[in-house]
Amino acid sequence: MNEPLPSPPVPLGAGGHWRNWVGNQSFIARHMSEPGSEDELAALVHEASRRNLGVRVAGSGHSFTPVVATSGLLLSLKNMQGIVSADHDRKRVVVRAGTKIGDIGRALKQIGLSLANQGDIDTQAIAGALSTGTHGTGISLGCLSSQAVGMRLIQADGSALSVDADTDPETMAAAQVSIGMLGVMSTVTLQTVDAYNLKEKLWRDDFETCMAQHDELAARHRHFSFFWCPVPESRHLYCLPDVAAVSPTKHEHDVCEMKVMDITDEPPFSDEKSFERVAYSSEIYPIEYVPNFHELEYAIPVENGKEALRQVRDLMLTKHTNCIYPVEYRFVGGDSGMLSPYYKRDSVTVSVSGGPGIDYWNYLLDVDAILRQYGARPHWGKLHFNNAQDMPTLYPRFDDFRAIRRRLDAEGRFLNDHLRNLFA
Ligand SMILES: Cc1cc2nc3c(=O)[nH]c(=O)nc-3n(C[C@H](O)[C@H](O)[C@H](O)COP(=O)(O)OP(=O)(O)OC[C@H]3O[C@@H](n4cnc5c(N)ncnc54)[C@H](O)[C@@H]3O)c2cc1C
Repeated sequence: MNEPLPSPPVPLGAGGHWRNWVGNQSFIARHMSEPGSEDELAALVHEASRRNLGVRVAGSGHSFTPVVATSGLLLSLKNMQGIVSADHDRKRVVVRAGTKIGDIGRALKQIGLSLANQGDIDTQAIAGALSTGTHGTGISLGCLSSQAVGMRLIQADGSALSVDADTDPETMAAAQVSIGMLGVMSTVTLQTVDAYNLKEKLWRDDFETCMAQHDELAARHRHFSFFWCPVPESRHLYCLPDVAAVSPTKHEHDVCEMKVMDITDEPPFSDEKSFERVAYSSEIYPIEYVPNFHELEYAIPVENGKEALRQVRDLMLTKHTNCIYPVEYRFVGGDSGMLSPYYKRDSVTVSVSGGPGIDYWNYLLDVDAILRQYGARPHWGKLHFNNAQDMPTLYPRFDDFRAIRRRLDAEGRFLNDHLRNLFA
């Protein structure tokens, strides 16, 4: 349902330069604004639209792809953060779209709730993370977007569209993962769960041992993931701890840095010697990265995971021996988002990285060629080689998404060149 909002002409902010977290994307926007309320946001979007300018939003800039770029109005919702309301009976919370995931976790802890799952970092704005289909690991757990059950989207005319999974599942399935193409999210409603503690355990194993245990570990643990490291230096590039003391393997080459996490009743503790710890859910999920990598990631059917990983490993051990960033391997449950990389498909994600300033393109293209054989769908925030021709095959509901996008944004105000090429 569309609600008109007051949108008197407002000055758009001064223009400026923007760059993402790692520095591989940058552009000059004609105007930049930081609204503090939904009314202000609506007025800015309406004014930009009236002047035929494109409108994009920056979350925390953690995408590696040109999904934020605009030559028109660039919005930041850093002044639109915090929890708006909580429905304890339904375990649902409404959060402002600029709220950082870590802040949502801290607020949920106070009221006895948790996010069902999270990714490797928690510094993203919730709207940014939802927009690209950001995920954690766990074969029975969907990506973050599958926890969204509603949102308010500011449209080009300044009106607010309330999308609700219960009353309009079709628009919600389009909006769930939509890379900012259906309007500017001002709030998001999240389905949360009762607060839980997680117990994390880390160790290192040989590649073949990991492959032999792959199915069992994925089934037995709520969360299972690993980084395959061709050489010992690999783990330093991702700041992974040295877990030799608790590892069955004594090798450091061609090894998997393993991680499992499970819900526990144990009280919080952290034991640096055993590489085990227990804490409130959102305190366990995030790890540290430094901006020293450019990442590509695709989702493929879970049943093809091991075979595909073997091929990527062979490629790195034979042809691209200078490419030593870890390969991250995670599990994501299928969902119903029209543009979700996990649409109706339990998946594994395989990610590889190149170093800034290095010509890693042939390596990434070779990885792309391997994963394409398995119907690989790109993470919208990470490097990929897909084009418009790939979309209808990869995304069975691509045409439905496109129809909804064209209906909601006929003038294409929320597109940029990157998105126009893929989705217009
Ligand atoms: C160190 C690091 C670790 C990462 N770990 C993971 C991980 O574990 N799992 C994973 O899946 N991904 C991961 N990513 C990728 C990251 O989660 C995504 O790229 C995510 O989209 C970034 O969120 P952001 O807030 O930085 O959004 P941005 O990158 O700033 O924006 C992403 C998209 O959201 C749109 N957007 C932002 N706010 C709004 C809004 N209010 N309304 C409409 N559109 C909006 C933007 O226009 C853009 O299209 C990681 C990235 C890095 C750099």
